[in-house]
Amino acid sequence: MKNKGLLLVISGFSGAGKGTVMKEIMKKYDDYALSISATTRLPREGEVDGREYFFKTVEQFKQMINENKLIEYANYVGNYYGTPRDFVEKNINEGNNVILEIETQGALQVKKMMPEAVMIFVLPPNADTLKERLVGRQTETMEVINKRLSKAAEETGVIDKYDYFVINDEIADCAARINDIVTDNNPELIGSDCVNKIKNDILKFSKGE
Ligand code: 5GP
Repeated sequence: MKNKGLLLVISGFSGAGKGTVMKEIMKKYDDYALSISATTRLPREGEVDGREYFFKTVEQFKQMINENKLIEYANYVGNYYGTPRDFVEKNINEGNNVILEIETQGALQVKKMMPEAVMIFVLPPNADTLKERLVGRQTETMEVINKRLSKAAEETGVIDKYDYFVINDEIADCAARINDIVTDNNPELIGSDCVNKIKNDILKFSKGE
């Protein structure tokens, strides 16, 4: 029988490209399972219910909370997001490494409940890239983009709680770095001065400096 899988909590500022990196990990490496979250956010163009997210009404989401069907949940820029419990427990027991791609409030709840979870924070190479990616994907209004940028600035305050930082300069490289962390294969890690530089740039940026 296979050993139990790991629980990987992966966060990153909106626009850091986490979603694409997660898809790459699923495509390239075995023994991973990507948790699909429930959300009350409306689907973006091209998003399919049950593939990117389980799209729920606020009532349905609250019912999931009441029935203890979510491991964690949070409100992010006006919408609820949460991780369905059954999928995570089943896959870990079957020996898969379960990826939760979630924001920082939910991530910290998971860390409290399951201290063995591996916490990874994905950073953009620099703050300019973050804004370019947010604007470039053309799925959000400038108002939402600015809210997401201030959220990123707020999140810089808690990223020190993560175990590992990886830079997403190139998708395949970033996916490989995460897989190296999971398989304990001499992962390429970045130093705190580099993390601090990106943190400060984002803080400045969100203030319009
Ligand atoms: P988006 O609207 O861009 O798809 O996601 C917004 C944020 O919500 C991202 O930071 C994403 O990682 C986070 N998120 C997605 N699913 C969950 C979840 O189940 N729980 C929590 N806490 N955050 C989530």
